[in-house]
Amino acid sequence: MPTFVRTDKCDGCKGQDKTACMYICPHDLMKLDMDGSETGHAMKAFNQEPEQCWECYSCIKICPQQAIECRAYADIVPLGGSVQPLRGTDSIMWTIKFRNGNMKRFKFPIRTTPEGSADPTAGFSDPDKSRLDDGGHYFNEDVHSTDMSQFVSS
Ligand code: SF4
Ligand code: SF4
Repeated sequence: MPTFVRTDKCDGCKGQDKTACMYICPHDLMKLDMDGSETGHAMKAFNQEPEQCWECYSCIKICPQQAIECRAYADIVPLGGSVQPLRGTDSIMWTIKFRNGNMKRFKFPIRTTPEGSADPTAGFSDPDKSRLDDGGHYFNEDVHSTDMSQFVSS
């Protein structure tokens, strides 16, 4: 089930070239309607291909205005309920609204290192970018090779 944008909350990321939701969507689904010609809502973002949405929640988590929500699957979140995250720098708060009016909040830490201090290669050598086009090889193939013999009974 796809995301949708609350036009009463979205501020178009204040007219930036690329909005936060456009930047983060792994499927390039979010788009800013600059002049309102596509949705009737100028300077508001929208999900341009809802049927392609992975419901990965990335855009929901990054939106600085909490303007994006997700229509979750009905067996998990029945109509009238909602699951909404609020991401901070070191924690995330999930607000679960039940359709009978009950509400619960869960807060979890999301990192153990100061923001901006993560080492992406964690001591391994930098990837060889020239191998990106040679088909079927991935950066982690060499550093995390699996000993297949452990899966074979003798
Ligand atoms: S990230 Fe949020 S505020 Fe920014 S354009 Fe997208 S929906 Fe609007
Ligand atoms: S939930 Fe994920 S796939 Fe769907 S629009 Fe947001 S970022 Fe893109």
